[in-house]
Amino acid sequence: MSKNKTSNTDTPSKKNTSKKSFQTLRGMKDILPEDSKYFLWIFDQVRDIAESYGIGLIETPILEPTDLFVRGIGKQTDIVEKEMFSFVDQGGDKVTIRPEATASVARAYIEHGMLSWPQPVKLWYWGKMLRRERPQSGRLREFHQFGFEIIGSDDPMVDAQIIFLTYKIMQSLGLEVVIPINSIGCNECRAHYRKVLVDYYKPKRSELCDDCKKRLTKNPFRVLDCKENKCQALSVDAPQTVDYLCDDCRNHFMKVVDYLDELDVPCILKPTLVRGLDYYNRTVFEVWLSEEESSRQSALGGGGRYDGLIEMLGGRPTPASGMAVGIERVVKVLRSQGIEPPRTYQPEVFVAQLGEEAKRKSLLLFEELRTSGIKVAENLAKDGLKAQLELANKLGVKFTLILGQKEILDGTVMLRDMESGNQEIIDLKKVVPTLKKRLASFS
Ligand code: AMP
Repeated sequence: MSKNKTSNTDTPSKKNTSKKSFQTLRGMKDILPEDSKYFLWIFDQVRDIAESYGIGLIETPILEPTDLFVRGIGKQTDIVEKEMFSFVDQGGDKVTIRPEATASVARAYIEHGMLSWPQPVKLWYWGKMLRRERPQSGRLREFHQFGFEIIGSDDPMVDAQIIFLTYKIMQSLGLEVVIPINSIGCNECRAHYRKVLVDYYKPKRSELCDDCKKRLTKNPFRVLDCKENKCQALSVDAPQTVDYLCDDCRNHFMKVVDYLDELDVPCILKPTLVRGLDYYNRTVFEVWLSEEESSRQSALGGGGRYDGLIEMLGGRPTPASGMAVGIERVVKVLRSQGIEPPRTYQPEVFVAQLGEEAKRKSLLLFEELRTSGIKVAENLAKDGLKAQLELANKLGVKFTLILGQKEILDGTVMLRDMESGNQEIIDLKKVVPTLKKRLASFS
């Protein structure tokens, strides 16, 4: 255990009265400005695309009834079996901090009678998810996802659109991704396929990892996408879902693939792709950095069709399709590729001050410049002019305004050209037009 970690086995010492400091819990991390600038950039790209396609933002609570996820995601999934932060609250209610958002969006669709809205209802979300997984690279206990959900249409174009928009967001961030895609069919074709799959694996049971031995009886589809080498080797020759699709499911899938081809989305057919959650049917897909990277790198995102979820949660049968992307993973990849978010705020003018009276007035001067549209910077907590000018230099501003005791009395301000070092006194009342004129000569 690290020195700073608090431990309830520590014996309190009379002499040591100093308070222990705290650290984030395992698998959780603070997002500092170095990372949050990526978050803001990604948020802007997602919002831009969502708005142009008429997709509205939905915010659902972080805490939901535990049963929502048990019923929605499925009892025998990793998430529900091992990873939910669930507890009984002071009022005796069984609650869970959301591990994903699709079940919540489906709940909201039913709760707010969205069935009576024009269909399909198109929603996007952005927020924290919590899963008590074993923390490792790219796997946190608290992470962020954004996602799109299109509810109320079984048209294959909706699946293609969801995949296309995911691809476009990645492109807007400068990431070239590939989209593995598969169809896992409907309940009927899946029942048949399940039997064929179990028949294939049963004689090879001893060669599977311990988890897959259990999966074979509980959730045999998950054996297909197990990351263990020995299980992957067996899945190469396993029967493929696409060979067991009914006519409707096959036609649906062929149309999705055809639309994506038309849209030039780099898809790869991946027969072993099944996704881990029970609510998926027909189209499933993931987002990978590249085909070669996929074995080493976990998926950036994924999604698919979930035609049965709304009914499973007590609503009318309503087809739907969606996706979710992990923001921390995207940031990690952007960093590793040396991609920086574009600088959105480049100050042009620095406001420096000298003396108590000037300090008092400089914030108003700053506001006057800011509200007139000039990009300004300051460090009013510093008193020394040298330190302020150093910061102005570092920020790369074109001009610094220096307000001192004398200038306040005269109603003037000193304008310093940072390139030449020339300084001149200007009328405080004309500071905005003067600066605008000077700045215009740079553009
Ligand atoms: P899922 O909801 O499991 O389909 O995950 C969708 C995406 O969320 C994944 O592709 C990851 O990018 C991200 N994600 C899921 N679990 C985690 C985690 N434990 N830590 C970080 N990102 C995650």
